Amino acid sequence: MFRLSRYLRAIEADASSRPTIAVKPDVPRYKPSGPVVIWNLIRRCNLTCTHCYATSADRDFEGELSLDEINTVMDDLKGYGVPVLILSGGEPMMHPHILDIAARAKGMGFYVGLSSNGTLFNKENIAEIAALDLDYVGISIDGMREIHDRFRRRVGAFDEALRGVRLCHDAGIRVGLRFTLTRDNHADLPSLLKLMRDEKVDKFYLSHLNYAGRGNRNRARDAQVKMTRDAIDLLIETCLDDIRSGRHSEFVTGNNDADGVYLLHWVRRSMPDQATRLEDILRRWGGNSSGVNIANIDNLGMVHPDTMWWDYSLGGVRERPFSEIWEDTRDPLMRGLKSKSRPLEGRCAVCTHLDICGGNSRTRAWQLTGNPWAEDPGCYLHDDEIGVSEMPPRIDVTPYSKLRNRAVVGVRFGR
Ligand code: SF4
Repeated sequence: MFRLSRYLRAIEADASSRPTIAVKPDVPRYKPSGPVVIWNLIRRCNLTCTHCYATSADRDFEGELSLDEINTVMDDLKGYGVPVLILSGGEPMMHPHILDIAARAKGMGFYVGLSSNGTLFNKENIAEIAALDLDYVGISIDGMREIHDRFRRRVGAFDEALRGVRLCHDAGIRVGLRFTLTRDNHADLPSLLKLMRDEKVDKFYLSHLNYAGRGNRNRARDAQVKMTRDAIDLLIETCLDDIRSGRHSEFVTGNNDADGVYLLHWVRRSMPDQATRLEDILRRWGGNSSGVNIANIDNLGMVHPDTMWWDYSLGGVRERPFSEIWEDTRDPLMRGLKSKSRPLEGRCAVCTHLDICGGNSRTRAWQLTGNPWAEDPGCYLHDDEIGVSEMPPRIDVTPYSKLRNRAVVGVRFGR
């Protein structure tokens, strides 16, 4: 996750108060006590969105973790130093024990977020949800009414989600909009940012499309380079305007760590005095941390390097505690992800900003080529922005082909 507001706020404050500092050659990467765990407690969902990485449906799925098993995992996560739990699905509000799970997690001292489609919040349950004192509720909105309803494949889904946002806001719950950018909805971004302001929403999360689940099958709809750049420009300008106007909004992005490098270039052009300081901060962030500081547990208890790796399991919490699975680097993917310098290829291998971006999404590389270390085809930076001049043609974002992907992957992982 790329915390745009945090970095812009740091350099904006610095611009008015402190002298710039020089970049240190070996800035140590920020190291939290444990990974953020995104936990898909349930696969069932009342919607069937086009970009769903969990390929959910409105039916029960066999073999999901019981409440006792969830509690055991939670104890292990706490002991291992996991600071943050993001409870997700499917639709987590459909989990029969969601309130108990969230309450227990809060009681144990986790930062607890809930990632929801917002349609199941209502006047009857909102007080109980507010009483949980959740740290954050993220509600997915994929465009204004027409686009959102089409993405969510349900007429009325937009109004239901907006009702959820308002109920949360009125109940004092910190609430954000979660938006996945594609070429079908990029034109709605300005309206959504206005909606955010009008509704006094606390946070806006822009996710780039990653090629997992239905998001993989629909990857030909991924936003084109110019659309992505325009969207990030707009996000940066909106964020900076809010900071300068004293609004306490927060903007973050996800699934494209090249955003950090893009911001650096933007600041070099627009706030050149602050570029050196920002570069230092971004190196400390270090970009992609799937398999290191980001982890995923799915509804069956299988552990993955992040939510986009559901096709690749590291082991199950029924057989081994998460803390053991996460430390085990015998798995070739985990060994690569955790290595100090990931064995990247193509543009990512020669990119001069690799220490900021971290090589971006390995899932996109894998889904397109079968090679998890190939360049990320979702990088929207021009060659001169990554410091290279002569490169072979870039990987093309071709339509989904299951056979092609799976045929190659076994070879690359040696499985
Ligand atoms: S080339 Fe690779 S490492 Fe460099 S910014 Fe793009 S995705 Fe990141």
